[in-house]
Amino acid sequence: STTSTTAESSQPHERSRTGEDAPLVRAVNVLKSFHGNEVLKGIDLDVHRGEVVCLLGPSGSGKTTFLRCINQLEAIDGGRIWVDGDLVGYREEGGHLHHLTDKQVAAQRRDIGMVFQRFNLFPHMTALQNVMEAPVQVRGVDKKKARARALELLEQVGLGDKPDSYPAQLSGGQQQRVAIARALAMDPKLMLFDEPTSALDPELVGEVLLVMRELAKQGMTMIVVTHEMGFARDVADHVVFMDGGVVVEEGKPKDVISNPQHERTRTFLKRMR
Ligand code: ADP
Repeated sequence: STTSTTAESSQPHERSRTGEDAPLVRAVNVLKSFHGNEVLKGIDLDVHRGEVVCLLGPSGSGKTTFLRCINQLEAIDGGRIWVDGDLVGYREEGGHLHHLTDKQVAAQRRDIGMVFQRFNLFPHMTALQNVMEAPVQVRGVDKKKARARALELLEQVGLGDKPDSYPAQLSGGQQQRVAIARALAMDPKLMLFDEPTSALDPELVGEVLLVMRELAKQGMTMIVVTHEMGFARDVADHVVFMDGGVVVEEGKPKDVISNPQHERTRTFLKRMR
């Protein structure tokens, strides 16, 4: 099957470099519209292995959409995204792009963990069952092994004593930590966080950020959409400020957050305080 002429005709044909030093995620000129509304107007981003990148910016600037494009929850209209050297959603052959099959898309998505604003746990399953589900059902991991690994992960997120609790018996912060453990159970090479603490009561935010800080320390590659400036300042290797579907400014947190160069960044940061 041949493809989307837009993606094909307007974009560069360069291939992502491969190998250990290549970025884990490379986005080049990513375009996305919804019903004629241009939401991403040419986003470029490199994320290296072990890096934490925070996406900042006002509501509606396209942060969530960009994250969803990386994970193929949305299809891009133009540009290219590579994860670990693989073109996301397409394969290139003889200078032409071909859509991947649903099965191939599912295989790409399997390597990427995503944590949403709402915890999205299976309500009829315990914490342990939630964490075991994908490894057993999708990867065909032996139940006993999956269980042992799930218990380890629940321990890692501070819920070693709650394997048998149902989501409704857990606080929002605990549910979000189960959601993180569940994503980690698939041994992702990349974790995407979409405002993981914004639906939480303020007193529960810290416990989730703590788990994310630990994960960063262990070297997980993470892209985090967040309004938590303290987290971005302390944990991010790189922050990207988006507004109106473009990257306005990016760099080290101490530069972008403490010494923003653009008026739009300054205005946004003032409102955050
Ligand atoms: P942010 O995460 O920065 O708040 P979003 O990526 O959620 O921004 O949204 C960017 C714009 O895209 C908004 O105007 C939003 O209404 C629009 N949008 C997002 N998803 C959809 C969709 N599925 N259908 C139509 N419009 C959408």
